[in-house]
Amino acid sequence: MATAGGIQRIDPRRPFTLNADGLKRIVLGQAGNAGLELHVLPHAQVHHSIKPQRLAADAQLTECLLVVAHSDRGSLDEHARQAVAAAALLADGATEVVLLVFGALNDDAAALGADRCIVLPQYGGHLFAPEAELAALTALLDELLPAHVFMPDNGVADSDLGRRLAAAINAASIATHVVEIRPAGLATYRQQGSLMARRDLTQIILLEADAVDARLPFLGRGQRAEQIAVTLGAAANAAAAGAFADLGVKAMAASQVALDEADFIVSAGNGVGDVALFNSLAQVLDAAVGASRVAVDDGKFERDQQIGATGKTVSASAYLAFGISGAVQHLQGIKDCRHVIAVNLDASAPMIKRADLSVIGDAQELMSALLEQVRQARAVEAAP
Ligand SMILES: Cc1cc2nc3c(=O)[nH]c(=O)nc-3n(C[C@H](O)[C@H](O)[C@H](O)COP(=O)(O)OP(=O)(O)OC[C@H]3O[C@@H](n4cnc5c(N)ncnc54)[C@H](O)[C@@H]3O)c2cc1C
Repeated sequence: MATAGGIQRIDPRRPFTLNADGLKRIVLGQAGNAGLELHVLPHAQVHHSIKPQRLAADAQLTECLLVVAHSDRGSLDEHARQAVAAAALLADGATEVVLLVFGALNDDAAALGADRCIVLPQYGGHLFAPEAELAALTALLDELLPAHVFMPDNGVADSDLGRRLAAAINAASIATHVVEIRPAGLATYRQQGSLMARRDLTQIILLEADAVDARLPFLGRGQRAEQIAVTLGAAANAAAAGAFADLGVKAMAASQVALDEADFIVSAGNGVGDVALFNSLAQVLDAAVGASRVAVDDGKFERDQQIGATGKTVSASAYLAFGISGAVQHLQGIKDCRHVIAVNLDASAPMIKRADLSVIGDAQELMSALLEQVRQARAVEAAP
């Protein structure tokens, strides 16, 4: 922790975000922070067409920064992308940014800012294998001797692995919950946020979300290091043989899953008149059921199905909203959802602006059509 000598404590304030132009204060309500940007072309296409590479082709590499993160269904989340960006922004022209990913990676590593990328697809996901991951990571540290190791301090696998690593290698220094970072040092909040502690960069750096802007003006080299991945995989297997038995993932009906743990939610608002049709669709899709407050107040759904500021906060991979306007109180409850699909008659509804995919049309018609399509597809699947 950042408690060693030499720490300067100052009055707390809003931290800076590190971006390509240096340090910038977080200003609430800015378009960039609100995530309102619309990308029409796939990421890789945009980046590759307009961005230069950070490292010169003939760069003499003398140092390396290592970033470690777990992927989720083949991609790094925003927090992990920020950790890669932190390393890329701090790296100079002789420093390579190496990314180690536990789990599959379908993202464009160059666009993330990584020069070399080592992917261990056999880890991550639901697999609990801390010993194996630690063995792979320490083996890589021995190989690369990175100046700093960056990880997202996300309260789950990366946070855990970062702290295990510090203990295992008896790290010279570690800083957790880092809210501000720059070449000269880093900062964390102390005493429930009433103080901010600063120090120079530590060997292991666990970053809070939003300390860094993940949008980079340059590309990494994005090379895949397949051979190292094989070597690390072998080291991991040897270290963890028999440590844990993987009992697999137990399947259960979506209706039995708590809303805040559900991965796929269909949600109804005031625009859903045919509740029976909606429930049939949810059942066929095997999705959990949520609702807006108006739909709950009308007695169409139970109170514990309400999503929003005064209901549940959900973090589904897919949130399919029928006839929900997207009032700010409702949007608050779905801020952590990954893909939002909205069906609404009104193209100017806030839910349409929030959605990644929108259908402007009648909820009842769309639900009937979707139900029919899914039933037909299931029938084809079931046919001998
Ligand atoms: C203190 C406070 C706390 C609140 N907490 C919550 C909360 O936790 N959760 C919550 O949801 N709300 C909450 N609200 C209420 C919130 O402000 C909205 O009133 C509510 O979310 C609106 O619900 P709705 O979008 O279903 O209904 P409406 O606002 O009536 O919107 C219905 C939408 O459906 C569309 N529509 C209508 N017919 C069709 C059709 N046939 N096909 C497709 N689309 C159609 C309309 O265009 C419209 O966009 C709270 C309000 C307050 C003041």
